[in-house]
Amino acid sequence: MDNKILEPLLQTLLGYGEAHQLFSRDERDYCYNQLLFFFEVEKLNSIDNQAVAFTTLSELLSMLYPFDKNHLPQELFESAVMNILMPRPHAINDRFWHLYRQNPEEATSYFYHLAIASHYINKDRLNLDKKWKYTSPFGLLDITINLAKPEKDPKAILQAHQNKEKKYPTCPLCKENVGYAGTCNQAPRQQHRIVRLTLGEQPYYLQYSPYLYYDEHAIVFHEEHRPMRIDRQAFTMMFDFVDQFPHYFIGFNADLPIVGGSILSHDHAQAGRYTFAMHRASTIDRYETKRYPSIKIGRLHWPISTLRLESTNRTELIALANQILTHWRNYSDPQVELLASTEKTRHNTITPILRKEKKIYILDLALRNNRTNDAHPDGIFHPHRPWHAIKKENIGLIEVMGLAILPGRLLSELSILKSWLLGDNVSTDFMHKFRDIYDYVNKNYLNITQDSVDKILDHAVGAVFFHVLEDVGIFKQHPLAQERFLRCLSALLEGDLHVS
Ligand SMILES: [Zn+2]
Repeated sequence: MDNKILEPLLQTLLGYGEAHQLFSRDERDYCYNQLLFFFEVEKLNSIDNQAVAFTTLSELLSMLYPFDKNHLPQELFESAVMNILMPRPHAINDRFWHLYRQNPEEATSYFYHLAIASHYINKDRLNLDKKWKYTSPFGLLDITINLAKPEKDPKAILQAHQNKEKKYPTCPLCKENVGYAGTCNQAPRQQHRIVRLTLGEQPYYLQYSPYLYYDEHAIVFHEEHRPMRIDRQAFTMMFDFVDQFPHYFIGFNADLPIVGGSILSHDHAQAGRYTFAMHRASTIDRYETKRYPSIKIGRLHWPISTLRLESTNRTELIALANQILTHWRNYSDPQVELLASTEKTRHNTITPILRKEKKIYILDLALRNNRTNDAHPDGIFHPHRPWHAIKKENIGLIEVMGLAILPGRLLSELSILKSWLLGDNVSTDFMHKFRDIYDYVNKNYLNITQDSVDKILDHAVGAVFFHVLEDVGIFKQHPLAQERFLRCLSALLEGDLHVS
């Protein structure tokens, strides 16, 4: 390849790195020499240092890719090149905590923008995601089709959880990913950086999610590769987090397969700066207890059965949350198909979400159960079969809060469904997979025409997500089930329940 083309590209990349403060002016020569070495160029002859025009970093890196002499896969190449421009991990930690002392928001803002500027979060690819809103009886839900995130089968997640085979890094969340070059099967993480935190007297790290489901989507993971566990320690950790970062919410995925997130083997929470539909929901009633007088408790107006606890007193909140969790683990109500355990398997757990508004902590506890039966072999409180063409994955923390993360394959599938709805022929396999959705749309929407079909499909996908949330809810929205919910709440509070 022609070095006359390479040199301006490298100068442009250096200009980008300096402008985004990946390195300082003093480090420019160092970075340039590292790049020469990487591209196996001894010296460049061109004196024409004119910058090359580019619109996105992805575009610039793609222009550089043909010069890679190591024939790396493109993602690995990009990660390696960007790492050359990056500060060492300790320098980022030092800068983060220096800014934190002035203002915690500045610290997270710095670290977040670094994750984007370094291409660890590939914003150019994320901009291709499709996003829209759906008006449900419980407020505006967020619907997203995510092109970056692979769709995971709940059974494969369970298998991965049980798989004891040693890998390096053990999982995608482990701290050993920092600087890792990647392989054909494992994502490159050369420019990945993490910030050390102490929460609940335990060592944790903060990073941002490369999938960025919402604004400043952060992950807080334990130093040790140890399983997800919702307990008093997890609650304490969450309170410490919102005390240190009051502008972020934090939540844990449930700690059981089917109702948990996609990585159960590594203790981690998700955090960030976004107001979800669930946050906007209000309680339908309000109670107090004699034992924890500072706390207001209510059932949330939300399709997934959730208790909201509000107080300025974190000690009382942690104690009550732990009491609710302990009782819930053993709570059964056959009238609503709720069995806490079968044989030796426990089924009940909680998805907890915490945020702080001024001095008030708001703790939402979503009640979860992962039992299966013959009618619902994938889960009784899991997306039911008719919706699987659109959503069959676990309903984790983010979806509990009202943000649908739908698989990238849907973009092309929805366009085939559109043709089918307009009367075109489609393959038998497709008909088989999408029959329930096709029938649902035909039954619920009139006048499906070329002009209306796109709007109808957006609405229908939103409606399907809403039905999924209803499936996940243990106490459904009819009066009898809500009466059972109230009975459950009274049991969890040991009868210490008084109208506020
Ligand atoms: Zn791990």
